[in-house]
Amino acid sequence: MSKLKYESPIIKQINTGITSKFGELNSLKPVTHIAGNQVKDLIEQYGSPLFVINEQTIRNTFQEAYHAFSTRYPNVQFAWSYKTNYIEAVCKVFHQEGSWAEVVSGFEYQKALDNGVPGDKIIFNGPDKSDEDLRTAIENNSPVHIDHFDELYSLISISEELNKRAKVAIRVNMDTAIKPLWDRFGFNYENGQAWAAINKIFYSKNLDLIGFHTHIGTFILDPNAYGVAASKLADLALNVKNKFKHDIQYIDMGGGFASKNTLKGSYLSGPDLAPSFSDYADTITNALLNAGFSTEDLPLLILETGRALIDDAGSLLGTVLANKRLSDGRRSMIMDFGVNTLFTSFWYNHIISPAQECSLYTEDTVMYGPLCMNIDVIRESINLPPLNKGDHVVVHRVGAYNMTQWMQFITLRPRVVMIDPEGQPHIVRESESKEYVSEPERTPDYLNDFDL
Ligand SMILES: *Cc1c(COP(=O)(O)O)cnc(C)c1O
Repeated sequence: MSKLKYESPIIKQINTGITSKFGELNSLKPVTHIAGNQVKDLIEQYGSPLFVINEQTIRNTFQEAYHAFSTRYPNVQFAWSYKTNYIEAVCKVFHQEGSWAEVVSGFEYQKALDNGVPGDKIIFNGPDKSDEDLRTAIENNSPVHIDHFDELYSLISISEELNKRAKVAIRVNMDTAIKPLWDRFGFNYENGQAWAAINKIFYSKNLDLIGFHTHIGTFILDPNAYGVAASKLADLALNVKNKFKHDIQYIDMGGGFASKNTLKGSYLSGPDLAPSFSDYADTITNALLNAGFSTEDLPLLILETGRALIDDAGSLLGTVLANKRLSDGRRSMIMDFGVNTLFTSFWYNHIISPAQECSLYTEDTVMYGPLCMNIDVIRESINLPPLNKGDHVVVHRVGAYNMTQWMQFITLRPRVVMIDPEGQPHIVRESESKEYVSEPERTPDYLNDFDL
């Protein structure tokens, strides 16, 4: 008989199936399978930690969002926000569903080209576009969303140098009562900056103004903010028509819809707070339909929704490395994934479920990652049944911003697997190797000599 493990006794209140005012916390129910695959098998086959993406969930979520908008407005186009998750397989699922690409750097722009997206369907946003990037974008007929006057001046000179017209839109920031105001991107609506940019575009020789863009913020819980923003962009479009007899082609409302994650410090849980796609679609399409466009002039409505389309499709599987009592008696647990892997744990209280049958008794637990670094805390406080070393957990809703913001810090980044609609897993990104990380290093020869 193997020796039982000894843990010194402490006195601690134990909660059975703790309930909130919204009922029982379902996070305590074990989640043993993801898209028909047993968690244990996935980890055995692909390692731990492991990101798992459910392709069917991406498609369902996308179709729900598209439906919400296309049933309310005649002309709708989504553009996948690459920075939210630019794993190639993920981008291609969105492109198969009909999404264009929305990129915010030369690197992302090239990725979209490599993925086979036609240039005129790559929307180029962001404050960082080099002259070389702008040249490529103009040559490929990509819509360039201008962020500041210096970029506008560069575009004017590059388009003259290339003797080619550039398709441009301006990014507009405005007061939508959402605080803080994201006025660092684009041109301000209220103070006339946006109009100064519009005038310069029309008085330049080679720039075609084809749209207006805004991205009012992220995780916006108040759909009405979008109504305000859409009205202000529509107002610019109608006045441009008045002044320059010019119809713009589209109004791009950016991203920012909330996913169902729970922000740290939020009293209500994410699913209770997050507006539905229909809520957002209502205010945006009402604002545009009522703005005063004639039916044949209604601009295309572009959406660059990121996190709300992908968060639910991603899970992180992980393993308990150790249990430990802190000096004050609290239970803590060390996992094999930390803030390096799960970057969004800095601002979300992720739901984390045990992946095997477990006790109904729960205890408030601090969940740490594996890094030798004090900031490596996944959850400051989570009610979990006791789990043993080697047990697995599932972290839910991790599809957005983790597979792009993860850090190669102290250890290597894990594999990513996508499960197809038939339930078949595919590796879509290999785990990193020491060689992958060392490859860009160059060490001067004289440093190779030492004698310890
Ligand atoms: C990040 C970003 C998005 C996507 O934002 P979400 O909040 O993830 O929906 C869309 N457009 C632009 C310009 C962005 O920078």
